[in-house]
Amino acid sequence: MPTTVREASARILSGVQPLGSERIALRAALGRVLAEDAISPIEHPPWDNSSMDGYAVRAADVASATRDEPVVLSVLETVRAGQQPTQPVEIGTASRIMTGAPVPRGADSVIRVEDTDGGPERVTIFDPRDAGRNVRPRGEDLRIGDVAVARGSALGPAQLGVLASIGWAEVPVHRRPRVAVVASGDELVDVDQFDAVRRGERIISSNSYTLAAAARAAGADVLELGIVADDPAEYQRTIARAAGCDLLITSGGVSVGAFDFTKDVLQSLGATLDLWRVRMRPGAPLGFGRLGEMPWLGLPGNPVSAMVTFELFARPLIRRLCGDSAIFRPVLTVQTVHELSIAAPLMHFLRAVVDWENGVPWARLTGPQGSGLLTSMARANALLVVPPERPLVRAGESLKAVLLGEGALSAGQLEV
Ligand code: AMP
Ligand code: MG
Repeated sequence: MPTTVREASARILSGVQPLGSERIALRAALGRVLAEDAISPIEHPPWDNSSMDGYAVRAADVASATRDEPVVLSVLETVRAGQQPTQPVEIGTASRIMTGAPVPRGADSVIRVEDTDGGPERVTIFDPRDAGRNVRPRGEDLRIGDVAVARGSALGPAQLGVLASIGWAEVPVHRRPRVAVVASGDELVDVDQFDAVRRGERIISSNSYTLAAAARAAGADVLELGIVADDPAEYQRTIARAAGCDLLITSGGVSVGAFDFTKDVLQSLGATLDLWRVRMRPGAPLGFGRLGEMPWLGLPGNPVSAMVTFELFARPLIRRLCGDSAIFRPVLTVQTVHELSIAAPLMHFLRAVVDWENGVPWARLTGPQGSGLLTSMARANALLVVPPERPLVRAGESLKAVLLGEGALSAGQLEV
């Protein structure tokens, strides 16, 4: 009995746990996922500090300042970032202070230099607007014991910066999943045999490239097992080489053709079959099971189907193995430029370009939607989702779109 996309996703992900952890240098951790909460051992910032270049003063001393009747204070010292003040600010005094420098005791305000005459020994203050302002308190960003970065966070620039701030030169991250990728089909060759393609005898195994790249982009180390013929014995020998991997991805041979052996081969090796066929287009033929401990995803051979099912099922599985707490692609509500009608009661994933128009995201199809048209995927930045209960969607109506990667919505201009 075919399952819905949602059920299939839940079943594939159930029981999948993040892989174990390893310690690596912070500098090498971009894109990895933190395996433990990073607890701050310090207060950050470590001292009350100035957010302006100016004069540290007591608010009460400057409250009456105007351009006509300015306040004059005597300057005690200059405090630079990286220096400690040597004296408290008392009635009638100020200390010249630079951004980031510790605010002296007694001061509760920093008057921006633009509101003063900048005097080195005596300073004249013309405006009280900064009274009580421009002091960033100690511990404003982090207190001792705060979770600075939570486990399960993918480490991007901001997270790396925070970890550096709390002194984590090494970080515990989840191990990178090892993913084996194998393509099957007698008609397939690699690019080094392009002559056979020119002669009209073979096609290139583009899935070997799309799926390996998609797995790498998802954070996996990929074991490329190449192309196997539609021959059960050869297929078995190749799959045996995936032993020790964290995930096996096959493409092709999951339809009902006379030479579609993938399921039989996996089962003959002892794999369970936990899922077979999903109510979606493209991508209806899809298998999932386990070979020993190793999950196996049997993606369809059609190049678009293989990529769409990878996006929906393989990528979240890999992100889960990576330990990421946010495993799914962003989904956005968009308006369709076209009227859309779907014939089969299946969830459709149409290749589309989502772009801003008058501040609203609109989806335009890339063109014909055949599951063999890989260029549609190469042009798309989103998968437009037409659910089975909406056989007719009129132009201007809203649909969900799964955004693919960083190209999505990045128009020719800054949309802010
Ligand atoms: P299959 O799932 O094996 O029935 O294949 C379905 C369609 O996808 C056929 O037209 C195959 O030629 C094509 N196909 C299968 N595997 C690949 C691959 N690795 N790269 C490109 N096309 C493929
Ligand atoms: Mg085939």
